[in-house]
Order: sequence, then structure tokens, then C-alpha cells
Amino acid sequence: IDHVKQTDPEVASALGQELSRQRSSVELIASENFTSQAVMEAMGSVLTNKYAEGLPGKRYYGGCEKVDIVENLARERACKLYGAKFANVQPHSGANANLAAYFATVKPGDTVMGMSLDNGGHLTHGSPANFSGKLYNVVSYGVDPETETIDYDEMEKLAKEHQPKLIVGGASAYPRIIDFERMAQIAHEVGAYLMIDMAHIAGLVATGAHPSPVPYADIVTSTSHKTLRGPRGGFILTNDEDLFKKINSAVFPGSQGGPLMHVIAGKAVAFGEALQPAFKEYIDHVVENAAAMGQGMTDGGLRLVSGGTDNHLCLVDLTPADVTGKDAEKLLESVGLTVNKNTIPNEQRSPFVASGIRVGSAAATSRGFTKEDFYEVGQCIAATVFNAADEAKLADVKAKIDAMLEKHPLYPGLEY
Ligand code: PLP
Repeated sequence: IDHVKQTDPEVASALGQELSRQRSSVELIASENFTSQAVMEAMGSVLTNKYAEGLPGKRYYGGCEKVDIVENLARERACKLYGAKFANVQPHSGANANLAAYFATVKPGDTVMGMSLDNGGHLTHGSPANFSGKLYNVVSYGVDPETETIDYDEMEKLAKEHQPKLIVGGASAYPRIIDFERMAQIAHEVGAYLMIDMAHIAGLVATGAHPSPVPYADIVTSTSHKTLRGPRGGFILTNDEDLFKKINSAVFPGSQGGPLMHVIAGKAVAFGEALQPAFKEYIDHVVENAAAMGQGMTDGGLRLVSGGTDNHLCLVDLTPADVTGKDAEKLLESVGLTVNKNTIPNEQRSPFVASGIRVGSAAATSRGFTKEDFYEVGQCIAATVFNAADEAKLADVKAKIDAMLEKHPLYPGLEY
């Protein structure tokens, strides 16, 4: 960042501070990851200068031949990675991908079913605070209060009763395998489209560590920056040519202007990386490591929502430690563990306080944390929340975390 340092020392200083922050804590936010330097180089390239409204070969601007190469690579690789026929890689974010998917399938006022936010769904799955809750008549489904896993029978009952035009599957805080085939049966039985938002598990789906929604869903939306380890952004897949045309118009001109070609270059690089055998190894570790972290927390006396994890994240009930999600988030940060508070099923507190935390293994696995490290991280989480007032214990935890961080440097050689 030599040029930033010269022209804008204030911004350069903040960038340096953020690199240090990322290096000096264990990143456990389940929606985050560390991209390769190749992805970051593609994003910080001259492609940020180019307007390219439209699609490859059909642009509203001249001079798009070179960015067409990049967007075609991104589209082809996304299709290959997921076994899909069509891909739109232009959504600026996951929320934008979902907005376009709604625009392509439903009209304002139509009934849409999505997983409720406090049971693990995303804001864009029908929250009243979001466009999805404001524009559509939302019917929410959730998890069974006993098993804390998705209640498909209840979902089917609700679908038959409310006759939605669109059912949205996928989640932001759900640790178990999702049965996309069952969701497709439910949606198609009532004549609804099925849209699966695989944002969180996109990396797992890419390698087969989670069953793919592509054969079952009418539309699959995703982000590229979570377990998939690409740049911050979104994309949409479908096997239906008519829907693909509607999706393309819903993205541009329906909801976006010019695509971010530098980010699309980053997506192309990330899809290419995910097609390599090393990515499968990485995801296998991500899944194994989340389970090891879960075991560490359980052995330390905490309770995992649904009793465990099948994917990259654990949702943790802090009730046994008598600490709120909000307090735990702060406490864990003080020992070098970055997490986010999260509501849990049957939540009694407001989402700003919450009774749980969500922890994921994708980011720290990228910097080389092993299964043994993750078990220790799990134990450290439990030791921290159970000993909130014991400074000596907390100092001991911090020393353990620092030793692990030192063993696995992040972006070695990178200087800001
Ligand atoms: N969908 C799901 C399931 C998510 O978890 C998220 C973000 O956390 C999004 C969509 C939104 O992605 P973005 O933040 O890129 O808009």
C-alpha cells in the first residue's frame, strides 16, 4: 500500500491497524474468512475503472472486451463448481442477490415463506426491518423447539395453509445439514418457487461437504466471501433458462447499475481456487475443526444448540455460564477471540443482548489452525465465559490464544 501511504497516511494507518487486528485475534465470526492474496490483488486492480452495464457481449459501454473475458471466466467457473447451467455473478452482495431473486419470482404483496431471523434465517428472508418484510406478505418458519432443527412438517403445513409463491431456504446461524430435497417437495407441491440462499455453506456445497441445492432449487443465491473464501459479493445460479433471463433483468437494470468488475475478477479467481483439490482439503478441515471446537466447548460445560454441528459453525447456548451473548462477545474479545452474539431458539432476550454466540471455523482454518487448536479454542471459550471475573484465569486463556496465533501467522510477509 505504498501509494496509499504517500497520498493518504490516515487511511494507510487504519489499513495497517486492521491488518494487525486480523493477525492478533482468532477470527471466529462464522460469516468471515481470509481471502488469498491473489483474490485481493484482482480486487485492487484497474478493473475498478471500468463501466460495463449489461452482460458479456451485450454491454451498454464500449471497451468491454477485456472485462468480458473476466466475467465469462467467473460465470463458467461458478457453473462448473456447482454443476449449474447458468450463473449471474454481478450482485454486489448477498442481500442484492436475494433482492434480484425476489424481483425475478414474486410481486409486491405476494406471500413468501422464509426462516425467521431469531431461528437462524437472514434479514433478507422476511424480516420486517428489511425490504423482504416490507414488500411481501411474509410467513416465517423455524426450528422445532425440542430438537432445534428445522421442522419440515410444520413448514409443509404452513405452505399448504398460506400458499406462498416463493419459499426461501438457507440460513445465517444454523449448524445442521439442510434437506433441500424436502424443501423442494414442499415448495413444488404448492406451486411455489424454491430459492435457496446457500451463502454460509457455499464452500461446503462446492466440495460436497454439504448436499447441493442446485438439483432441487429453482434459484440458488449466495455470497462469495464466507466459506467460499472469495471477495465480498454475491452471485446467483439456476438451471432454468427462462428464470435466468428474469434474474439477469432483475439484477440489471432491475436493482443495480454497473457491475463491480474488479470484484468480479476476485470472484473468478476464488471460483478457480475452489475448483482445486486443495480447496476440498481446506473445507474438510473446516468441518472437522468446527466439530472439534464444539467438543471443546461441550467438554467445558457449554451447550450447543441442536447438540452439535454438521457444518462450519456452532451455535452456543450460554445459559449454563449465566452470561449474555453481549457480555460474552466483549469478554471473548478481551482474550483474543472474535465472535458475535446470537439469538438461540426459544430466545428470551432481545437480539441486542441475546443468550448465545455463533462461532465458525472457516477463517482460522485458513490461517492454519488445526483440529487440536480448535479443541483448545473451544475450551478457552468455555473457560472465559465461566470465569468472567477471574483475572488470572483470563490471563491464562489469553496466553494460550497468543501462542496459537503465533504458531499460525496470517498473511506472512505482507506489510502495510
Ligand atoms: N444470506 C445469508 C444466509 C447471509 O448469512 C448473509 C450475510 O450474512 C447474506 C445473505 C447477506 O450477504 P451480504 O452481507 O453480502 O449482503
